[in-house]
Amino acid sequence: MSLKKSEFSEKEKDDIRTLMKFVGIYCREHHNGEKIPFSFKLFDIREIEKKEVSLCPDCTRLLTYGLTMRMKCPHDPKPMCKKCETQCYHGDYKARIREVMKFSGIYMVKHGRVDMLYHYFC
Ligand SMILES: [Zn+2]
Repeated sequence: MSLKKSEFSEKEKDDIRTLMKFVGIYCREHHNGEKIPFSFKLFDIREIEKKEVSLCPDCTRLLTYGLTMRMKCPHDPKPMCKKCETQCYHGDYKARIREVMKFSGIYMVKHGRVDMLYHYFC
């Protein structure tokens, strides 16, 4: 598999950034201990996301798996994962990515979209 920067669509780049951001938030809020800057062997992640994300070994594995699966997605445009017939996340990874998406989704609403919360609570 050869992947060059020019082969990524904007949608793919968005998905890659989102995955990185979500796993990054989850790891930061849940895991202590040694973390290393994430790198991906199939392409230079810095071409897509300038901001570095440091992860524990477990989250590094999860993000690597997620990015690999995103790259291998046979659908274009990619459907919502839960509506997809391919179901590329298996077993443990599926449960973990779900937990990450749920936690970080709520986290981002709480921390980033104050304008929306304001609307709901006031
Ligand atoms: Zn972690």
